[in-house]
Amino acid sequence: MGSPENVVVVGGGPIGLVSALGLAQAGVPVTVIDRAAGVIASPRAIVYHWSVLEGIERLGLLEDALAVGFAKQDYTYADFRSGERIHYSIDVLEGHTAFPYNLHIGQHQLAEIALQRLVELPHAEVRWGTEFVGLEQDDTGVTVHTVGPDGASSLRAGWVIGADGASSPVRKALGLEFEGFTWPKRFVAVNLRYDFSLNDYARTTFLIDDQYGAVIAKLTSDGLWRCTYSEPLELPEETITERMPDYFKVILPGATDLGIDAFSPYRMHQRAAARFRSGRVLLAGDAAHATNPSGGYGLTSGLFDAFVLYDALAAVIRGEASETVLDVYADERRRNFLEIVSPAATENKRVIFDTSDPAQREVDLTNLRRMASDKDVLLSRLMLLDRMRTRPLVPTP
Ligand SMILES: Cc1cc2nc3c(=O)[nH]c(=O)nc-3n(C[C@H](O)[C@H](O)[C@H](O)COP(=O)(O)OP(=O)(O)OC[C@H]3O[C@@H](n4cnc5c(N)ncnc54)[C@H](O)[C@@H]3O)c2cc1C
Repeated sequence: MGSPENVVVVGGGPIGLVSALGLAQAGVPVTVIDRAAGVIASPRAIVYHWSVLEGIERLGLLEDALAVGFAKQDYTYADFRSGERIHYSIDVLEGHTAFPYNLHIGQHQLAEIALQRLVELPHAEVRWGTEFVGLEQDDTGVTVHTVGPDGASSLRAGWVIGADGASSPVRKALGLEFEGFTWPKRFVAVNLRYDFSLNDYARTTFLIDDQYGAVIAKLTSDGLWRCTYSEPLELPEETITERMPDYFKVILPGATDLGIDAFSPYRMHQRAAARFRSGRVLLAGDAAHATNPSGGYGLTSGLFDAFVLYDALAAVIRGEASETVLDVYADERRRNFLEIVSPAATENKRVIFDTSDPAQREVDLTNLRRMASDKDVLLSRLMLLDRMRTRPLVPTP
């Protein structure tokens, strides 16, 4: 039986590890459990928007992350049908933030950096290969049931954070609905060694088209790129690799060596848990909300959950804040997702991938040209990323 002051974090993805690191740095004993053998390395989020970098810096991770990944400011919207390129730079943020750039780094690499820091702390523990299978809670704590390398076991914790991804077994154990819908399209995230800058594409490029639309981003300084395209959900997942060459033949005509490194199919949702708190259990990241990735807001909003949650929970555990601050966390992060993150991601998806109406496409292109040529319009649009943040709910050190 553990002390009621400790926290069990279910899920060693980026949100679970960042939450655990914040708690451990605040002196709270923390145990992370994850059913996987280690950090999952399949192709997933890569872009960390400027507004999350202050939080990454505060955890002491930014320097290492910049050494593995890179900072970048350049963007392109490329209209597939006409070939038009609309280029812009987020250097307009200079003078408005200490971090006027985005960070590109695979989410598993950031998770590994957070993990290294976490396991250095004496009161932090990470148990891989340990699956959450259920929980019970009472007034003093939560009993978490697991199945691990030594069989079935249980852990007692004061509090639990469910950061166990979009299919969250913790959310299901709490009986919370994942309200919203799933898009009838599948995204396919492909890592490849093709230099898209040869096509006059910036290191983040949105290829606009109903059929061939894609989000393309440079992943590593040594030439790995990511291309995420979509296809109808009814096409079989097992034959993605058979269709993939046809897709690249169209968007990269004449390219012979694509250097495909890895790929990952991805179902897209706009969903949020009915509540982000149930007693002593809090949800964060994809366990709490899932969005289509056009614009890279899924991980961004999850990081903003973690940044406010670890401070608030540490303050409650230390007796410096009332538990009601956790209700504020739950309500405010849910509201932020439903009112800001999800509509913005849906609009990005429409502009990039759902362009069958030519009149609407022309309106969208006109708006993009204006954004690229008018710094005030661009700045106001970039400030959307700041509105995804929740200000600290308790005084921070
Ligand atoms: C192919 C793909 C591409 C994506 N691209 C982007 C992008 O470009 N931009 C963006 O912002 N987002 C993107 N996303 C979404 C982004 O990856 C998620 O928002 C992010 O992973 C959320 O992190 P998380 O820590 O909340 O959950 P996850 O990363 O899903 O981590 C959940 C963890 O919980 C563990 N777990 C699950 N069940 C159990 C259990 N029963 N017991 C113990 N552990 C368990 C899992 O093993 C996993 O390690 C993409 C996702 C995918 C799949």
